[in-house]
Amino acid sequence: MKANRNLARAPGAFTLTELLIVIAILAILAALLLPALTQAKERGKLTACRSNQRQLAIAALTYAIDNAEWLNPLQDVRVGPDGNSWETTYRVILWDYVGGNPAVFDCPTERVAVYADGISTTDAALGGFALDPAVDWSRLYGYPSQYEVWNASGIGVAGAHWIPVRDDVDPLARVSTMPFGRPLGGGYYEGLHRTTEMTSPAKLICFGDGGSGTATWSDDNWWIKEVTPGAEDNAGFNRLTQDDYGCRRHAGGAVYVFADGHADRLAAAAIPCNPTECWWSLRLNAHAPAAGAGVAP
Ligand SMILES: [Zn+2]
Repeated sequence: MKANRNLARAPGAFTLTELLIVIAILAILAALLLPALTQAKERGKLTACRSNQRQLAIAALTYAIDNAEWLNPLQDVRVGPDGNSWETTYRVILWDYVGGNPAVFDCPTERVAVYADGISTTDAALGGFALDPAVDWSRLYGYPSQYEVWNASGIGVAGAHWIPVRDDVDPLARVSTMPFGRPLGGGYYEGLHRTTEMTSPAKLICFGDGGSGTATWSDDNWWIKEVTPGAEDNAGFNRLTQDDYGCRRHAGGAVYVFADGHADRLAAAAIPCNPTECWWSLRLNAHAPAAGAGVAP
């Protein structure tokens, strides 16, 4: 008599075919769920990036309230704990306004340009200096020091247009059109700005996903800037065409926070920078000919 294999196996056990089917179903389910999980993870990072940027906008506006409406400098020369004066960044200047939390200057999606990891080997490589093994470089942030400017961060301060659009002969009379300028003198010629100079706060970018990662000034991985020397006041500023990887960090776009405190994810090409409207400038029409100038920039 032919043996019945189904009867021969233990009650409740699976056949090989049944097991293979179960494994195949699990593999299909995993393949279906993994992209959804990855997307959910990225959505979480996007939310965290947006939250960090909103904190930065609030910090800058609170700084202005404390300083007679003057916004914080993009960078400045400040005295460090070692008693020396060092060129430093807005991160040190807003430090107390973000509760001394270095992670606020970072985007969770960014792995390389990270402020909270202190001076990393990547930062040192950009700066062309060696890390001294005797120093704890991982905690070098939040105060003026020789290397603070070299610490890349995932979120950059807006500095696309720092040469004035109007034609000034005297460099000391220059006033930049970026929201956070640099103090006049000391090698800086742009000047600072007051919140009252913003013509359209809802259309003025203050911070955004940073990490310019370009050959020109690649050391300054903490601000969003025009990377073509001499073209800093040009209309048509587009981070994508400049291969600025920070602008495509979140599904091809980037998070930006505006002076009214709202944050948006935008594609680089969707940000206006033309004679009618420039979201990088204090004056919405910064690229339009200045009154009396007669010549378009
Ligand atoms: Zn512009």
